[in-house]
Amino acid sequence: MTKRDYYEILEVSKSASEDEIKKAYRKQALKYHPDKNPGDKQAEEKFKEAAEAYEVLRDPQKRQRYDQFGHAGVRGAAGGGFSGAGMTIEDIFNQFGDIFGDFGGFGGFGFGGSRSRSSRRVNKGSNLRVKVSLTLEEIAKGAEKKLKVNKYVSCSACNGTGARGNDGYTTCSTCHGSGHITRVTNTLLGQMQTTSACPACNGEGKIIKDRCTTCHGEGIIKDNEIIKVNIPAGVAEGMQLNVSGKGNAARRGGINGDLLILIEEQQHPQLIRDGNDLLYYLYLSFPQAALGTTAEIPTVEGKVKIKIESGTQPGKILRLRGKGLPEVNSYGKGDLLVSINVWIPKTLAKEEQKLIEKFDESDSFTPKPTSAEKGFFERIRNYFE
Ligand SMILES: [Zn+2]
Ligand SMILES: [Zn+2]
Repeated sequence: MTKRDYYEILEVSKSASEDEIKKAYRKQALKYHPDKNPGDKQAEEKFKEAAEAYEVLRDPQKRQRYDQFGHAGVRGAAGGGFSGAGMTIEDIFNQFGDIFGDFGGFGGFGFGGSRSRSSRRVNKGSNLRVKVSLTLEEIAKGAEKKLKVNKYVSCSACNGTGARGNDGYTTCSTCHGSGHITRVTNTLLGQMQTTSACPACNGEGKIIKDRCTTCHGEGIIKDNEIIKVNIPAGVAEGMQLNVSGKGNAARRGGINGDLLILIEEQQHPQLIRDGNDLLYYLYLSFPQAALGTTAEIPTVEGKVKIKIESGTQPGKILRLRGKGLPEVNSYGKGDLLVSINVWIPKTLAKEEQKLIEKFDESDSFTPKPTSAEKGFFERIRNYFE
């Protein structure tokens, strides 16, 4: 990708004053600030682009070189900080955090200062993801599952500190336990503070002298843990539940990661799920449909009996209210739809064939659909359109 012109990025003229450049940068940084555009990669790029432009144009020497030689003039320039590629949002906050401060109005959304001046780094354990497979019956009622999870747990020998005994570690002498170091540099805009994690202790504020022999100083070990989780009724395939703090333990006493539970739904042998509704395909014999009968229907709470009226036509759908699945975290419940089908014999004995031929001569067996039954065709057509 070719680099855009720095003046163009900040939307200022080539003769803009230092103050105009500063104001222009503030405007761009506000517009594309990551706190205002969470997860927006394009905004992040623009935010970085503006910082890069400002980093060059605010410095008279660099600006002069840029005016003369273009981008080539400032690439890897002496004392160039991060000009060029590869700077991160964190770099920008570290570099410009305090300058944003004197623009005013940035504090409201956590710009600069609060980030770069954050105290000791806290380790965070990684999240774990497990799959849980459920039957429709379990989904209907909700389920308590005991999961055996192989994960990092806090080392019990050292209480997760990674050090042997209470005097196994000492306060970091580089940062005096604060976990960060601050550098002050003089710039044209006044003093600028740069804060970064202490390299001596990796931001932890302390250094281990005598490592725990069980976990080799990490404070965590791999082990199996049985975790009980309550899965609410009504969940569906692909849903993810977050069990806070049940993921991997962090190195040396940080915050645990989360356990993410991915729901898998087992296929039911007789019922089909459609949202919170369930569908059952019921086959009646021709005499059952003609004479009426009682049919047994499987549901997620056991079998129920329903009455089939005489003269029931195939294609009819009976709705059993509330016999579907509950909504997650709600009181609503779906229905069970029973779709009626009539089984037509595929092979017939000689006598049966004769009987049916007789039926065919009878007026009762001549199709005479009511207007409602004819309307069924319309409904199907509408459904497919
Ligand atoms: Zn240990
Ligand atoms: Zn330190």
